[in-house]
Amino acid sequence: MRRPLVVGNWKMNGSRLGSVELSGSIAKNFSAGDRCIDCAVCPPDVFLADVAATLANSGVGLGAQNVSQYEEGAYTGDVSASMLAEFGCTYVLVGHSERRTCFGESSQQAAAKFVAAQGKGLIPILCVGETLAERQAGRAFEVVAEQLDAVVEAAGLSALVEAVVAYEPVWAIGTGEVASPVQAQEVMTFIRARLGEKAGAMRLLYGGSVSVENAAQLFEQRDIDGALVGGASLHPEQFMTICQMAEA
Ligand code: PEP
Repeated sequence: MRRPLVVGNWKMNGSRLGSVELSGSIAKNFSAGDRCIDCAVCPPDVFLADVAATLANSGVGLGAQNVSQYEEGAYTGDVSASMLAEFGCTYVLVGHSERRTCFGESSQQAAAKFVAAQGKGLIPILCVGETLAERQAGRAFEVVAEQLDAVVEAAGLSALVEAVVAYEPVWAIGTGEVASPVQAQEVMTFIRARLGEKAGAMRLLYGGSVSVENAAQLFEQRDIDGALVGGASLHPEQFMTICQMAEA
């Protein structure tokens, strides 16, 4: 049995006070029940300390949205894996499509970040997924395979299956256009098959316009173990409803 995981990616949104309020509301709600899922939020780095304090003893985990591939040194603006660990992070997103598209991050860089994160005890959430043009060209599996293979090459298969993979079709992120449960399951099946037997216990998340309207159907799919939630994670009641659906 794989334990469901729901992760909120706040992206570059909110304020210091807003982050404390949002995490406070999630913490209060989550800690009120006997939970059989894992849940985490990824605020902007500058709010990590405040959010860590608010989440303390709630059972809600903390994650970061990005990490440097380097350990330390002259890398202006970067934040290292050991810094994130020191601030209480358990998870870190690696290779989010916005990093790949807006910041030109390659699969090899994402793989180096994966290695750096795992080396400091963080659990990387490797984001993979195709653009609309790639899907229309029939290349969805090929693109996902290339993104996975880069990590297998850098970190090894055993390291990848100890982490979490989030399938996030780029055309579904922030667009309101969610992949159908069948489309999502198809790619999940592909990912598990590509990684082989060892991937049986690995958690696979779906991400891309997950909402209270579509989450339950997605979670019914055999290989979907939870969600990476962007927009809806900024609304505590929606995020908690999605968590409850993952639990059901
Ligand atoms: C994301 O940021 O990873 C994401 C899936 O965003 P949204 O849920 O808003 O599509």
